[in-house]
Amino acid sequence: MRAADDLIGDLNPQQAEAVQYRGQALLIGAGAGSGKTRVLTRRIAWILTQFGAWPSQILAITFTNKAAAEMRERLTGLIGPVAQRMWVSTFHSACVRILRRDGEQIGLKSGFSIYDTADCERLVKLIGADLNIDLKRYTPRSILARISDYKNNLQGWREQLNTYAADYKPGQKGYQLGRFGNVEELYAVVYAEYQHRLAMANAVDFDDLIVRTVELLRGCPMVAEYYRHKFRYILVDEYQDTNHAQYVLVRELAGVDAGERPQPDAVAAGRQGPAWITVVGDSDQSIYAFRGADIRNIQDFEQDFPNAKTIMLEQNYRSTQTILDAANAVIAHNEGRKPKKLWTALGKGEPIVGYAADNAQQEAAWIASEIARLHVEAGVAYSDVAIMYRANAQSRSLEEALIKAGLPYQLIGGTRFYERREVKDAIAYLQAIVNPADDVNMRRILNVPKRGLGARAESLVTMYADTHAATFFDGVLHVDELGAPTRTATQLRAFRDLMTALREFAVAHDGKPSEIVAEVLSKSGLLEELQRSDDPQDASRVENLSQLQSVAAEYEQKTPDPSLAGFLETTALVADSDQLPMQGEDSGSITLMTLHTAKGLEYPVVFLTGLEQGTFPHSRSMEDTSELAEERRLAYVGITRAQRRLYVTRAAVRAQWGQAAEMMPSQFLDEIPDELIDWKRREAGMERMRGGWGNGGFGDDEFGGWDDDDFGGVSYGGAGSTFGSTYGSARGTGSSYGSGSSSAARSGYGSGRS
Ligand code: ATP
Ligand code: MG
Repeated sequence: MRAADDLIGDLNPQQAEAVQYRGQALLIGAGAGSGKTRVLTRRIAWILTQFGAWPSQILAITFTNKAAAEMRERLTGLIGPVAQRMWVSTFHSACVRILRRDGEQIGLKSGFSIYDTADCERLVKLIGADLNIDLKRYTPRSILARISDYKNNLQGWREQLNTYAADYKPGQKGYQLGRFGNVEELYAVVYAEYQHRLAMANAVDFDDLIVRTVELLRGCPMVAEYYRHKFRYILVDEYQDTNHAQYVLVRELAGVDAGERPQPDAVAAGRQGPAWITVVGDSDQSIYAFRGADIRNIQDFEQDFPNAKTIMLEQNYRSTQTILDAANAVIAHNEGRKPKKLWTALGKGEPIVGYAADNAQQEAAWIASEIARLHVEAGVAYSDVAIMYRANAQSRSLEEALIKAGLPYQLIGGTRFYERREVKDAIAYLQAIVNPADDVNMRRILNVPKRGLGARAESLVTMYADTHAATFFDGVLHVDELGAPTRTATQLRAFRDLMTALREFAVAHDGKPSEIVAEVLSKSGLLEELQRSDDPQDASRVENLSQLQSVAAEYEQKTPDPSLAGFLETTALVADSDQLPMQGEDSGSITLMTLHTAKGLEYPVVFLTGLEQGTFPHSRSMEDTSELAEERRLAYVGITRAQRRLYVTRAAVRAQWGQAAEMMPSQFLDEIPDELIDWKRREAGMERMRGGWGNGGFGDDEFGGWDDDDFGGVSYGGAGSTFGSTYGSARGTGSSYGSGSSSAARSGYGSGRS
């Protein structure tokens, strides 16, 4: 345990005040790099050591799993191993924990599945087919985006139905869409049906984790009371990126609206009434509006929480004055914000370096050569360098250049281990074992590996399930009543027996997920099918499956009370940012990532690339003031990641949709005062006609990245690299990052709406 002086001795007066503040609601609002996260961590240690709170009374929320792990590690350093027992997690992980414990109260059986985006899209496709929806026109993706909006704003499906399709009953057959002649009806019906089927499958999507927890707390006073009694201190980092549902969740957990209650096990502070809330954030760094983040949560904090105290931090400890000046100048172009003064004691430092390339390949090649130069001439370690871009698709030329130059790098967010077909198949088995009601996953594995149970067999089972209002697996269990042809019936029985045997095995070995994975891989025939194949790609698929088993073993080792369901949770909540090395760990490689993923991080050397109208700011944001403002905040986030050296680069030509498009310099470049930038090359080769921005962007997929296949010659997961994304080093860094990612997006984020 640290003494008080240790916790605040090296802080500035505002930081120290924030750490020690006693009161119900505290907002630490401050610009980038001013020590917000550091103060939050110290405050937790302070609450434990100086207010005398128990670790179990604290709930700390971070934006990513990785940030949570890091905070926990710091806390362990400050206060010792008790920190291991604290709830330090993302909103989503915390909600999973709550729902696992008490979800039964709202009809969620333990072992519920968490659907990732691909699962959700399958579900919407099934619903769309049943309702005769034109899914080319209303893509599953766009429908899901709408559903997500409803959820982020806590708009339930019942109210949508009441307003737009009052005579629809979830589960109803033969409903004719379109009688109301508006698209709201379609969304309302699909939303209701989607929730209905999730409930039938004992499954939730990412947004549901929050929404259903709110529902639980609101609907079950006993449960709400339990958590309000338990958590006396709630602390939230990156508060500017919370959405409405998360805001309500915090209020509910804290019991802000529940009035005064005596607290039997009083701690020194906060013995009466709601839990003490500390939020930290920077409204200039709000970059998740597209996922429902509501900047007003932070702007209105003082109104929302009576007697709230606000502490501003003004000293930046991260960057040079030049970098700060650039960031401040850019963000000043946003309207309606409170100006902040940020200063640093680090001095002016190096000028920002600018480079205008003729095209994206040349831009990438120059960056590679510049990094090589910094490495040799200035002794800059590769792991001190980050290359950031607006959209995942931009990584391609950068990767090619780094490979050519033989520089080790690590791509964050490009490959999604858990989204690979074979890995998803294996997970689908595990999911179906834990939760046989999970129709989406059960259907997925019915004929994987191929066992002669095609579309006809599937529809026979589905028909049974529909007429008996039963699950898909119930249909399989009743194979003898399906009237299936002999061969099909035989195969269905074999599938039934397989799943039953696997389930029994899983129950008997629940604490050993790695053994269950091994059993599933061998008994299901998944592994065998791949091993028999001549397709060279299948060899790397086998490696991925063996990797999955290692991940399970690793989980087993570091989790006090391992279980198969627990393992599945960790795989469901993985995010891009989890691929990053922990602080203090040297990956030995250059980091490539999107600006969204870079939130909260810092690097001595940062390259901001693709500074072109249409690339960054993104083409779709250029006509809309509020979207442009969000892009500018993203630029502010990017600039402020840099500690010592910042590079800004652009290309005059960039391929879009297979065509070379001419790109104008980004307006953000103009917004950086000229004297701060030292242009190594100012005008790009191809002189363009003036007027009209380069059009187009990267389409809908900008956050999604590519499928592995898009990478043509470059293969992931090559020998030596542990699943994945570490290829790319002529020297073979062999580092083991890239635990893939899934659209855990919600918790880990970074991978956007994927
Ligand atoms: P962001 O807005 O990007 O999330 P932040 O406000 O959370 O940034 P931190 O990441 O906590 O800032 O701190 C930025 C850097 O400054 C870190 O390296 C941190 O260790 C350092 N730092 C913060 N406060 C101090 C201090 N009082 N003395 C020395 N270093 C500090
Ligand atoms: Mg921070």
